[in-house]
Amino acid sequence: MVKLSFLGGAGEYGRSCFLIECGKNTLMVDCGIMKNARNFNDIYPRLDRKTAERVSHVFVTHSHEDHTLALPYLVSLGFSGDVLATASSIDETKEYFKEWRNKAEDKGSNLLYTLTDESKVNFKAVDEQKTNEWIELNNEVSFKYGRSGHTSGSVWYAFKISGKTLFFSGDYSMESTLFNYQYPELTEAPELAVMDAAYGDYNSRQEHLIEEIMNELKEALKRKKRVCFQVPLAGKSQELLAAVCKRIELNEGSFIYMENKLKQASKKLGDRPEWLTERSAASLFKKIGEADSPIAETESPADVPPGSIGFFTAERLEEKDAWAADGHTHLVTAGPENETVKKKALEYGTYCKLPFNVHPTKDETAALLSYLKPAKTIFTHGEHEDVNRLIQTLEKGNTHYLNIKSGESVTITKSWGV
Ligand SMILES: [Zn+2]
Ligand SMILES: [Zn+2]
Repeated sequence: MVKLSFLGGAGEYGRSCFLIECGKNTLMVDCGIMKNARNFNDIYPRLDRKTAERVSHVFVTHSHEDHTLALPYLVSLGFSGDVLATASSIDETKEYFKEWRNKAEDKGSNLLYTLTDESKVNFKAVDEQKTNEWIELNNEVSFKYGRSGHTSGSVWYAFKISGKTLFFSGDYSMESTLFNYQYPELTEAPELAVMDAAYGDYNSRQEHLIEEIMNELKEALKRKKRVCFQVPLAGKSQELLAAVCKRIELNEGSFIYMENKLKQASKKLGDRPEWLTERSAASLFKKIGEADSPIAETESPADVPPGSIGFFTAERLEEKDAWAADGHTHLVTAGPENETVKKKALEYGTYCKLPFNVHPTKDETAALLSYLKPAKTIFTHGEHEDVNRLIQTLEKGNTHYLNIKSGESVTITKSWGV
C-alpha cells in the first residue's frame, strides 16, 4: 500500500509539498511556500514534527520558492535527511533562502525557523548526466528524473515503490524556446500522475507569445524608453534574455543590463548545453563577463540608459527605485506581478504585463497524458475552478481524474481509496 498526502499545492497555487508513505519509507517531493497567501497559516505546507522526523529524503523538482522555501522549516521540525536536487537548483535555492530572509528582516517579520536550520538543509546533488535512468534508493524504492523545461535545473521525478510507478511532473513546459524537455521513459504506465495545472485550460503557443513581447520591446525602444524586464532569478529570465539576444538588434555600443545575481545564474547555463533546446544558445551564456558579451552589469535599474534594456528581479526594482521617478521607464513583466513595482511604474512611466509560458498549456497537458497513460491523474499547482475547467476540456481517455485538496490523501492499493 502506498499513501500519498498533499500537504500543500493541491487546489491552490503555491506551497507544493507531497508526502509518499510506504512501509518504512517516508519520502517527500518539494517543500515550498505560498508567497502571496492571504492567511499566515496558508504560507507553509501542513507539516508537523512527527512527519518531519520520519521523512528520509526530499526530492526537489526546482528552485522556485513555491517548491523549496519551506525546507528550513522542515529542518526546524526535526527533518535531518537528504534533499536531492540538481546542482543549479541547489545553488538557486540557497539564493532564494537568502532573499526570503532579507525580505523578512526588511519587513520586521519573523521566520518560523533560524539561520542554523537554514544552514542544516542537507543538499545532495543528483548526477545530471543520469537522466532517465532508474536509481536504487534502497531495496524498496527506485527513482528517476529528467529535464522538465521550466528552469535550467528543473526535473520531473518517477518512483517505483511497492511495485507501483508514480510520476510527478514538477513545473514543466514542453514548448520552452530555451530549455529542453525530456519525455519520461517508463516501462509501464504510472499508477498515478501528479501533474502541473498552473494554467488550467489556457492555450497558446510560446513562439507566438515571444513574438508579441519582442514587438512590445521594439516599440518601446523606438520611443527611447528604458525597458526594464521584471524577472525571477531562474527560468523566464534566461529564456527572455536568449530571445532578446537573438531577435533584437542593439545599437553600436549598447548593452543589455542585468543585476549581478541574474547575470551569474545566466552565465552558469554556458556550461550546461544539454539543458538547452539549441546547443548554440550555450555560447551566448558562456560569453557573459567577456569583453565581447552584450551583457553588462548594474545593480541600479536607473543606470540603464533610455533606449536600452535591463533585467531585474522584483526585489531589486523595489529596493532601488530611482528608475521610477525620471519617467523614462517602460516596465515589462511576464508575471507574476509585484504590486509595489507596478504602482511605481504606472505613477511616472508605462507598464505592461504580457503572457509567457513556463507551465503547460492545455495542449501540452493532453500530449503528456496521452504519452504517459496514467491510471489516475491528480492536477496540482492550480485553483480548484481552473483545474475543473481543465478536466472538463480534456478528453476522458483512459485516465481517471481525482479531485484533491491540500490536507487530503489518497491510498493506492489494488482497489483505490481516497
Ligand atoms: Zn516554478
Ligand atoms: Zn511552481
